[in-house]
Order: sequence, then C-alpha cells, then structure tokens
Amino acid sequence: MSNNDLMADIQTNRVGLDSKFKFKCHKDVKCFTKCCRGINIVLTPYDVIRLKNRLALTSEEFLAIYTTPQLFEKTDLPVVTLKMSEDDEKSCPFVRDDGCILYEDRPTTCRYYPLGVAALSHKEGADDQDFFFFVHEPHCLGFEEDKAWNVREWREDQGVDIQDEINADWTDLVVRKRSFPANVKLTDQSKQMFFMVSYNIDKFKEFVFESSFLDRYEVDPDTLKEIKEDEIALLKFGLKWLKGVLFQVADNEKVPQKEGAEKMRKEMEKDS
Ligand code: SF4
Ligand code: SF4
Repeated sequence: MSNNDLMADIQTNRVGLDSKFKFKCHKDVKCFTKCCRGINIVLTPYDVIRLKNRLALTSEEFLAIYTTPQLFEKTDLPVVTLKMSEDDEKSCPFVRDDGCILYEDRPTTCRYYPLGVAALSHKEGADDQDFFFFVHEPHCLGFEEDKAWNVREWREDQGVDIQDEINADWTDLVVRKRSFPANVKLTDQSKQMFFMVSYNIDKFKEFVFESSFLDRYEVDPDTLKEIKEDEIALLKFGLKWLKGVLFQVADNEKVPQKEGAEKMRKEMEKDS
C-alpha cells in the first residue's frame, strides 16, 4: 500500500472513543496469532521498560537484541520498532502456537489491535491528532464474533488507558515536533537525547547521576530519591527535561537550571 493509500485508509477508518464495534479474539479463532507476524510495531518508552524488565535485560541489551531503529517520517524523530524473526512469516519473537509468551507485558500497539493509534503510526496520514482507526486486516476474523464494545471500553479492557497515561508526555513531544514547520530540524545531538530518554532508561539514569547533570539542574531531594528508585518517575522526569531542552515551554513545564549553569555549560563547550 502506498503512503497515499495508507493515508486515505487511516482517515476513512477513523474512530473516536465512543465508536462502537463487534470483536472478540480467543484461542479458537482460525486466525489465532496471525496478527503477530509481518507487522510493524512502534514501541513506546513504557513498552521498552516493561519488556526489558520482563526479559531481565538492560535497556541497552533489549534495544540491541529486539529492536530496529527507525525515523518517524513526519518528524524525523528516532523511534524503535520490534524486530521480527527471520522466518518466512516474519513472526514476532514472542509468539508461540498458544499465543504471546509475554502477554501481560505486550506492547501498546498489540493491546490496541485491531485498532491503530494515530500518534503511534509513523506513516504520513496519521496526523498530529489524537484519534484511532481500524486496522482491518483481511485475515482477522475477530470482527465476525458477537461481542460489542466501544473504543473506550476496549482501551480499559486491554489496559491501554494506563499505558497511554504514562506515555502521554512522550506523545506530546512527538506531536509538538510534528507541528514544527518542515524546515525546522533538530540537531543530531537533540535526536540522541530524545532517543536516550525515550528508550535507553538505564543510560539516562547514568547521565543524571554520574555526569554533571545535577550540578546544572535544580532537582529537589524528594524527586531525586523518587527518580533513583522508580523508572517510570525517571522517564517522566526525563521527558519533562527534554521538553525544556528541545522546545520553547513555560518555566513551570521544564526542569529548572541552577544559577550560573548556562555560563558553565558554554565555558565547558569552549574548553572541549
Ligand atoms: S508482543 Fe505478543 S501480542 Fe505483540 S505481536 Fe508479539 S506475540 Fe503478538
Ligand atoms: S487476527 Fe484478529 S482474531 Fe485473529 S488472533 Fe489476531 S486479533 Fe485475534
């Protein structure tokens, strides 16, 4: 499907929270696990934290083994997708005949399916607005079942409302970048920072606690304790910091710099 066709398809199938549909997925459907093959799953920061913890890997190890780096077409921001296996069907590495081996920690995109999320589609046509669309793959027989939902109920049932709350600040960054004029580019360094905070939470932790970060930014003791112990708090802190570094935002939306820090940073840049 070309990008233009995909755009038309996404826009035609666009739905909101109250839209109704009939759908049920279970182990007895003939298509069971077909949707776990040959797919493009953009991972969110929270997906990576859950998956790497489930697999007892560092974020760096998880990224190296299970992901492929990509760029969001419209924003030029670096993201990762789940790397499919090399078999003929390009199966997800976590699918088995009886289903997903890490179902409780499956990524946001898998939870939403058969719905797609505009903010997580890295193709043209998934605009900067908050909406959903039906993926409508011909092999998916779940639509022939009789269970009725609306989109809101489906999100709650699949646990995506909680995922989305945690990922909201990241989605906000992506959407802000999407609203930049096409000629405004982020530097390579900015993209690297975006990638580190978004996906390499262990490296970001090192960056906060083992570089001059805490000499440059004002972080109160309670926040410091929280981000040391809790990866979700660290991720939210990182996204707030990133927002202040990459975009023009109000002072209360960013991590405050210490007095003299900007001067120090410029001097360090001059010396290096
Ligand atoms: S992570 Fe699980 S649910 Fe998602 S595609 Fe892979 S096997 Fe399927
Ligand atoms: S293709 Fe549809 S019905 Fe079949 S397993 Fe996947 S989600 Fe369920």
